[in-house]
Amino acid sequence: MITLTKQELIKVVAGRWYEHYYKNANYSDEWFQKFEPTYRKLLALENPTEEQITEAIGNGSWTRITCDFCSKDVDKVIIQNVNDKPIYICRNCITLAKQLLDNLK
Ligand SMILES: [Zn+2]
Repeated sequence: MITLTKQELIKVVAGRWYEHYYKNANYSDEWFQKFEPTYRKLLALENPTEEQITEAIGNGSWTRITCDFCSKDVDKVIIQNVNDKPIYICRNCITLAKQLLDNLK
């Protein structure tokens, strides 16, 4: 089990962008026009906020953490691998699960 927070995603967003779009890039003119400006914007941000990243990218998907149990967007989760697939679990779902188990006594 590991943890993941929105702040951790925000801190490394430029590196994640690079990793995602540059690793297998063809570096065509079209590719540069599509991905390079956003990468430059992300690199230029010092201690970026979620709002700044959303504005630079054009959507909030790169800072969003969604719980796999309740489907709500949250600020932090526990990640548990199940059959090599990471499952994100929020505090509310873990608390609810604990209460259900506690009530079995
Ligand atoms: Zn949840």
